[in-house]
Amino acid sequence: PYPTEIREYLYKILVIGDLGTGKTSIIKRYVHNIFSLNYKSTIGVDFALKVIQWSPDTVVRLQLWDIAGQERFGNMTRVYYKEAVAALVVYDVTRPKTFEAVTKWKADLDSKVSLPQAWGGGPIPVILLANKTDLQDEASTSLDPAEMEKFATSAKDNNNIEDAARFLLTEIMATE
Ligand code: GDP
Ligand code: MG
Repeated sequence: PYPTEIREYLYKILVIGDLGTGKTSIIKRYVHNIFSLNYKSTIGVDFALKVIQWSPDTVVRLQLWDIAGQERFGNMTRVYYKEAVAALVVYDVTRPKTFEAVTKWKADLDSKVSLPQAWGGGPIPVILLANKTDLQDEASTSLDPAEMEKFATSAKDNNNIEDAARFLLTEIMATE
């Protein structure tokens, strides 16, 4: 009997991590459900928009920011991080160096962006993605498999990406 009021939210989400870890692939998989073995990296910033019907009266637009090329320097400018409310940090399970870089990416993030004051001003929620698990030989990892499982994604096999995004969004919506 009453007109339903639809609430709409727009959130900026950063996808960061070393070159070649699969950031672009994860975004393409999540937003367009496609996978390719070669994405040409365009220089600059790329955006992808994922629209989610979060609940019957809530629509969420996730604006995913993909870095292209600049990640080789291991940090981003403050302007790039501005107003982001969450981030995905990606590493490649077949290249340990990209895991070592995760701490550096998290530190870079925390030094340049925080939640709005209205949300407490703390660090933005971040989820770590261990990507390319389809290529991983189980025996070759020194990390606890049960621990690993929580972060394991494959853009190729479409494993866990949707769940990771949902988890992050639950964190964000809890602060709203
Ligand atoms: P970015 O530089 O972090 O954006 O990485 P890309 O998304 O361009 O991926 C780098 C390479 O890894 C490409 O050849 C992708 O096809 C490949 N790749 C990305 N994710 C996966 C994955 O989950 N499994 C496999 N086997 N390859 C992947
Ligand atoms: Mg890329």
